[in-house]
Amino acid sequence: MEILHHPSPVLKSRASEVDTSVDAGLLDLVRAMAETMYDENGIGLAAPQIGVDKRVIVFDVDERLAAVCNPIIVEASEETAVDDEGCLSVPGVTVPVTRSTRVVCKGLTIEGSDVSIEASDLLARVIQHEIDHLDGVLILDRAPAELRKELIRAYNEANGL
Ligand SMILES: [Zn+2]
Repeated sequence: MEILHHPSPVLKSRASEVDTSVDAGLLDLVRAMAETMYDENGIGLAAPQIGVDKRVIVFDVDERLAAVCNPIIVEASEETAVDDEGCLSVPGVTVPVTRSTRVVCKGLTIEGSDVSIEASDLLARVIQHEIDHLDGVLILDRAPAELRKELIRAYNEANGL
């Protein structure tokens, strides 16, 4: 699948919750998302990035593919860390983003079972990044104020916008 790039409006919208009990397309969606993520050497992908208005994320930071429907962060550490993040939807841009170092993420499998993931460090960062996508938030929005304008200008210039 093709990955949408900023400033696609889909990337700025809040994605819709999925109903795992009636949505028969979730397995195909997760397969397509995983394939796209691996093709692009990504470690996470959210459905809106391939133009699908659903709250579904996939990620693989430790050679284990995981998919979560309707993910929410139920606990986030006060301790935060800043690290550079890239995004397949904002190619060529790296942004120092502050994130909680530990989170607990709850959601559903595509079969509708409850999942709870305790994540730290890189996994915690990836989960927060992907859930941001479901809320229409990009790394450009997370950039420190003093960097944001410069990053957006450089991105626009590089992409002929
Ligand atoms: Zn991203």
